[in-house]
Amino acid sequence: MIRITSVSKRFGDQLVLNNVSLDVPDSKVVTVIGPSGSGKSTLLRAIDFLEQADSGTIDFGDGPVDLTSSKPRAIASVRSKIGFVFQNYNLFLNKSALDNVTLGLIHAKGKSRKEAERIAREQLDRVGLADFADRYPSSLSGGQQQRVAIARAIALEPELLVLDEPTSALDPEMVSGVLNVIKTLADQGTTMLMVTHEMRFARNASDHVVFFEGGNIVEQGSPSQIFNHPTQERTAQFLSSIH
Ligand code: ADP
Ligand code: MG
Repeated sequence: MIRITSVSKRFGDQLVLNNVSLDVPDSKVVTVIGPSGSGKSTLLRAIDFLEQADSGTIDFGDGPVDLTSSKPRAIASVRSKIGFVFQNYNLFLNKSALDNVTLGLIHAKGKSRKEAERIAREQLDRVGLADFADRYPSSLSGGQQQRVAIARAIALEPELLVLDEPTSALDPEMVSGVLNVIKTLADQGTTMLMVTHEMRFARNASDHVVFFEGGNIVEQGSPSQIFNHPTQERTAQFLSSIH
């Protein structure tokens, strides 16, 4: 289990994360839902050192790592365990789909080019893009680009796959292809922490749902608890506002 403990973050005088603690059990999918501006992205970014937290730790089972650290070794050790999928894909635009996936395998994992390409083709196949390996991002749809980004992340075999609203930049007709890929990974036992506003997906694909607002976890539980029997008025209000 991956344990995130007491993460706080302030931007100026705004407290964006208020002592947030969250566990992600192995092979489970935890989804975070909540209004815009509530600190969801900041939480995901803080655990990958993309924002420096003011307090907090992450523990992959081998001891807590201080999220306020600026030690390159601590940062590299955590980043090697996390695969991050961003809202806007963040592919290298001057690299083919294949090279987007091989780069990390060669530079972060020390694989030979040949081995990296073998793994990359396997992962592109897994996301339904076996025939698109030589394409550049500009000739792929948003949904295809996001699937390349997912292949790139899982190729490194992270202990935790983090996805920050992976479908919110997509045209509506591209959403289901990406969600299907994520659901398949979930069914195959990938440990995931995902922010999403796709409520149907959160209900059907998650093991655990966290409702987040104003830098706090308001309520968390199984999908049926959160969606059918929320105990907090705020959760019920939020859910009814988006349906
Ligand atoms: P969410 O992902 O839930 O929409 P964010 O984590 O992106 O929320 O943002 C939470 C709050 O922190 C927002 O008010 C946002 O404006 C603010 N914020 C996020 N990043 C920064 C930053 N780099 N500098 C200043 N404020 C920021
Ligand atoms: Mg966000």
